[in-house]
Amino acid sequence: MIQENLSDITRKIEESARKAGRSSQDIRLVAVSKTKPVEDMLAAFNCGQRVFGENYIQEVLDKRPLLPPDAHIHFIGHLQSNKAKLAADFCDMVETVDNLKLARKLNTHLEQSARTLDILLQINIGCDPNKSGIPATETERLYEQIEPLSQLRITGLMTIPPFENSPEESRRYFADLRQLAERLVAKGFFGGKSPELSMGMSSDFPVAIEEGATIVRVGTALFGSRAVSGNGN
Ligand SMILES: *Cc1c(COP(=O)(O)O)cnc(C)c1O
Repeated sequence: MIQENLSDITRKIEESARKAGRSSQDIRLVAVSKTKPVEDMLAAFNCGQRVFGENYIQEVLDKRPLLPPDAHIHFIGHLQSNKAKLAADFCDMVETVDNLKLARKLNTHLEQSARTLDILLQINIGCDPNKSGIPATETERLYEQIEPLSQLRITGLMTIPPFENSPEESRRYFADLRQLAERLVAKGFFGGKSPELSMGMSSDFPVAIEEGATIVRVGTALFGSRAVSGNGN
């Protein structure tokens, strides 16, 4: 089942990329495996999937030792700064950085192990009071505060838009994140190069790709529905 789902998702990624005149090579699938057993992750790994998304540090700690070394974990949940050390040690990217305190803690732990970590700034693009992330208007300030931290590399932006009933209704949020990124690039942020845009989930990743997503985070469509509702954010 996972194999079929994965090829179905891969086909949809290719279709949406073609529709948008983009290369599907520029789009990475993060297989969101929160609440799912490591066996499911290994099934996906054996079909070629390499990047997994987790929302809870405890799950990362439980699963990491059971995964092959070239499986990568993106942390996509709300990260408390008292868990920063664990995220720094066991994750390959933290997609949900939205405050300086967390960034500083990550940086301190990374200095001790002389490692660098790719991070995304989480933007609350729809100004949804129930969601983590900074308002779009705060992006430049947080970027400039984090940029001097030697062990962190800000490679892009991530968002979880407000829930909408149809993917088309989410399109404007994805377009907003892309336009925010374009304005930042024009001002020289991200070294003047297009940054990663992590946006789109099971219900709306094709639309997100049409609007410029470089990372899509897909759980349910790959691993099936979750017993506990784990939106995590
Ligand atoms: C759970 C989760 C996803 C995956 O959601 P699905 O609808 O199951 O694809 C993506 N991103 C984040 C941040 C999540 O918490």
